[in-house]
Amino acid sequence: MYKRILLKLSGESLMGSKQYGIDEVRLAEYAQQIKEIAEMGVQIGIVIGGGNIFRGLSGAGKGFDRVKGDQMGMLATTINALALSSALNSLGQKARVLTAINMFPIGEQYSKWRAIELMEAGEIAILAGGTGCPYFTTDTGSALRGIEIEADVMLKGTRVDGIYTADPEKDPTATKFDKITYDEIYHKGLKVMDLTATTLCRDNKLPIIVFNMDKVGNLVKVMKDEPIGTLVYEG
Ligand code: UDP
Repeated sequence: MYKRILLKLSGESLMGSKQYGIDEVRLAEYAQQIKEIAEMGVQIGIVIGGGNIFRGLSGAGKGFDRVKGDQMGMLATTINALALSSALNSLGQKARVLTAINMFPIGEQYSKWRAIELMEAGEIAILAGGTGCPYFTTDTGSALRGIEIEADVMLKGTRVDGIYTADPEKDPTATKFDKITYDEIYHKGLKVMDLTATTLCRDNKLPIIVFNMDKVGNLVKVMKDEPIGTLVYEG
């Protein structure tokens, strides 16, 4: 069992069956699953994306300034972080939002030490706003925060079962890797995360498990070391 994890949730998954925004059913499922692993005693930091609300790149495509678009995206991640903290609190699970950019009183400003202090006291630290810088993604934010908070592993919750030879939603012959090295990801050109995020994990030896977070029960299985998803390791 891991002592401390960094869980990355995609904003897009939060949409559930909707076209935009937050699906309350999916949000409640996530909160319940996260509470279950918190009760197992693992310390949890969470980074959440914002793609269900706004992405900087698509904003730039519509004529927005890229930096402002990315700032809008970072605000979108903060909206999701507030929603998740609220859903966890309503289940009786303590959770706090720490923001990459000062937005008090929406959340306290993030520091490694504050996040660790909260996690050691049994609270879930939801780390909003990605890296706080434009031109980055929340995958990179989650790699960075995972390293900073000294997590044992980064769990990347997605809507597919792991890393495949090709996109399983488009190619029915695609097969899943049980494990794969960081270098194989580069060499095979697999689109797991952006390369900045993968490189940060590789250079700092942070293993990643990519798994399907939308299947209720999977998060607990990952924590129990059951063979779920794909492990990315150094080799
Ligand atoms: N973003 C950013 N810097 C960061 C993290 C995120 O500028 O460190 C912005 C960027 O515009 C991105 C948006 O926030 O498109 C939402 O994040 P992301 O696309 O990673 O969300 P996800 O795809 O995981 O839902």
